[in-house]
Amino acid sequence: MSGLVEFLRARLDEARAREHGKRRSIPSPFDGHDVEITYSSYEGQQVIVDGHPYPAEQYFKIATEPAPDPNVIADLDAKQRLLDLHAPDSFGSTSTYVTCKECSQGYEVHEWGPEYPCVTVRLLGLSFTNHPDYDERWRP
Ligand SMILES: [Zn+2]
Repeated sequence: MSGLVEFLRARLDEARAREHGKRRSIPSPFDGHDVEITYSSYEGQQVIVDGHPYPAEQYFKIATEPAPDPNVIADLDAKQRLLDLHAPDSFGSTSTYVTCKECSQGYEVHEWGPEYPCVTVRLLGLSFTNHPDYDERWRP
């Protein structure tokens, strides 16, 4: 079941980058003009204003502002903190058994806690079961 933590960190980073990439239009000199934004893998993002090409970077600087949803960012922060809290813990360099630092609290020293990744970490993975790299063995 290894790889779930790396998978989750990558998905959370992607979601954060997508959210920070969201932009909102603001009052600008382009209001009232015909603005068309296109994208092609060959030419990248193209902005056409009143039928004429316009530098895309300049357009987005003037006419939009970053607009990440603070609730989405807070949700991603909370998931990240859960992942940090439920970190793997092994029993010295010779043991291959890995448990969860948080979930193994309360166990006696000679007992082993639940195997890592714990149910909490596997539950966090449920947000990304439609991703092609999701491993069904991670499902809690
Ligand atoms: Zn745990």
